Amino acid sequence: MTEITNAGLMQRDLRVLWHPCTQMKDHEQLPLIPIRRGEGVWLEDYDGNRYLDAISSWWVNLFGHGNARISAAINRQLKNLEHVLLAGFTHAPVIELSEALVAVAPPGLTRCFYADNGSSAVEVALKMSFHYWRNQGQTTRTRFVTLSNSYHGETLGALSVGDVALYKDTYAPLLLRAITVPAPDDYLRPESLSPEKWVQEHVDKMRKILADHRGQVCAVIVEPLVQCAGGMRMYQPSYLRQLRAICDDFDVHLIFDEIAVGFGRTGTMWACDQGPAAPDIMCLSKGLTGGFLPLAVTLCREHIYEAFYDDYATLKAFLHSHSYTGNPLACAAALETLAIFRDQDILAANRVLAEIMTSASRHLLAHPHVADVRQRGMILAVELVREKSRREPYPWQARVGLAIYQAALQRGVLLRPLGNVIYMLPPYVISADDIQFTLGVMTECIDQVCGS
Ligand SMILES: *Cc1c(COP(=O)(O)O)cnc(C)c1O
Repeated sequence: MTEITNAGLMQRDLRVLWHPCTQMKDHEQLPLIPIRRGEGVWLEDYDGNRYLDAISSWWVNLFGHGNARISAAINRQLKNLEHVLLAGFTHAPVIELSEALVAVAPPGLTRCFYADNGSSAVEVALKMSFHYWRNQGQTTRTRFVTLSNSYHGETLGALSVGDVALYKDTYAPLLLRAITVPAPDDYLRPESLSPEKWVQEHVDKMRKILADHRGQVCAVIVEPLVQCAGGMRMYQPSYLRQLRAICDDFDVHLIFDEIAVGFGRTGTMWACDQGPAAPDIMCLSKGLTGGFLPLAVTLCREHIYEAFYDDYATLKAFLHSHSYTGNPLACAAALETLAIFRDQDILAANRVLAEIMTSASRHLLAHPHVADVRQRGMILAVELVREKSRREPYPWQARVGLAIYQAALQRGVLLRPLGNVIYMLPPYVISADDIQFTLGVMTECIDQVCGS
């Protein structure tokens, strides 16, 4: 038998696969990396190279690859039941998970509706909100309000309420017409304005939009605190608190998409805890299973659930479903993930790690091609620019991010920049040394690609 190598697998892969978010022609130059095994923060390929997964495999992994507890929980569940439909049937893992989620969720969220990926959880949230108003006889409410530079997934509904041109523009003719309001992005704040004033301006803009569209809006949907796919752009927690108040004033739903920022990522269990602000509907996925299996949940308040609860003949039921809704294996993984949060003070441990990330990245601010170093808990992002004083970005054609990605891989770190933004969003099991290592590699790559 011939040995399995990176090159051999890559050849076979490129004959039959079509990879996500990829111009496949890039792989004429760019090697694809087949991973044989993962342990903790490390991934190992078939040639024996190791890579530190500094982005938690697209933000899903919380407690490291191969986490023994989650792995054992899935194995236990596998001995009894792999799957059963969730209509007319139920099972202990999904019940226990729903009880556990309601117990830790922001106040008021009492019902769990499951799907199997984040975009679907967003679709559920949008349909649920629209249908709620319809069940109330409010048929003029058909619009959704979203922030500039937001991201909520790739299916058509989720894409409609996002605002990242790279993913959206091509499909524009197919999409719902969302109403986009400027985000209170701290990076865009003029130095002459205080953070409070900047938030206030954006709160006023939101208020005006909702006033102009009174009776037409179902919900406002936002990513609390960090717009991750939009380049890890961050904003002040007080915006969330004020947004909550405006949504109450105008009687529209507030949807928090915590798919990327939930589960302790920003320093609190939910990013919205920092407002504090509680949504009417909340979407979770990514870290929900600790990064082991696909699962998503849309939580809502009891009065939303009740608006669908009636005799069948009224046709008010929410007839949305996915085949793998509430999969027992995924629920077992999610339950164990929440058990880890219960048994260990993850948030306190992360505070220590986040401080190390802060101090180990401080030097980057002085770099001639770094315009901003920003952080919320376990997300640290560096904004690269061609010209610092004018904050002039590198043109996208320069593909600076791709060059950094390649340079970092050669040094054993998986960074996958978003355009000109390099970030680390590591599994919570990363050590102090590995944080230093990652930021050291990040610095070397910036020097190599941008010049020092
Ligand atoms: C990743 C992400 C989604 C989409 O989740 P998928 O599982 O990739 O469909 C939605 N919203 C946010 C904020 C995300 O980061």
